[in-house]
Amino acid sequence: MSEPVPPPMAGPAGPEGWACAVCGAQRRAVIDLLIQWQHALTISEAERQTFGESRGLCPFHMWLLRQIGDPLSLSKALAPVVNAWVIQLREMRDAPDHGAASIRSALPEQDACRACRTQRDAGAAALARLLAELPPRDMGGERRSGAALCLRHLAAALRSAPTRAAARTLLTEQEARLEEVAGQLSRYIEKREALRRDQIGEDEHEAWRRALEAVAGARIVGNGAGG
Ligand SMILES: [Zn+2]
Ligand SMILES: [Zn+2]
Repeated sequence: MSEPVPPPMAGPAGPEGWACAVCGAQRRAVIDLLIQWQHALTISEAERQTFGESRGLCPFHMWLLRQIGDPLSLSKALAPVVNAWVIQLREMRDAPDHGAASIRSALPEQDACRACRTQRDAGAAALARLLAELPPRDMGGERRSGAALCLRHLAAALRSAPTRAAARTLLTEQEARLEEVAGQLSRYIEKREALRRDQIGEDEHEAWRRALEAVAGARIVGNGAGG
């Protein structure tokens, strides 16, 4: 077996403190799971059997497995899944409705996908840690040391915020971060259009990445799983 290749989508998200803390925890948990799993599928017939019976993962995480596995390990993982479908389709031939509903119900989506469950649990744990660390009173907008959050996880944090002051702290913090990135984006655009590339700072070069992280969350945390 070749060494697992680090998935390109799990790369650094920009300067320290900018990637969403909850997305980051989810990304680590899912990548760890997939790396362990890819290894287990390569060496264990029992794991391959279980993988086939569960029909693998949801489409998003199935493709993510592609980021980690080499063609041999992917073939070993996918063979039992494809074989399970061959058997299922054969059994459907004589079903009154040709079993269309049984395809839908066998496809692993969200809770039926182990990686989605891992992502959801890691997100919930990271969110709980973050909420537990919030200061008990409003810091008047001065606090700038807290974790960054993408908008989806900011909404989740606000829904669970223990106090009004905690919610205000979260909002003040993220508003300041977004304001900062808006300034960096606009300075980048201005300098590019004025042909002053040499004056573009490091933070301005990377502003688009921070903007994407802020509005869309980490790229690896997909398909709405994990809250
Ligand atoms: Zn996030
Ligand atoms: Zn999934």
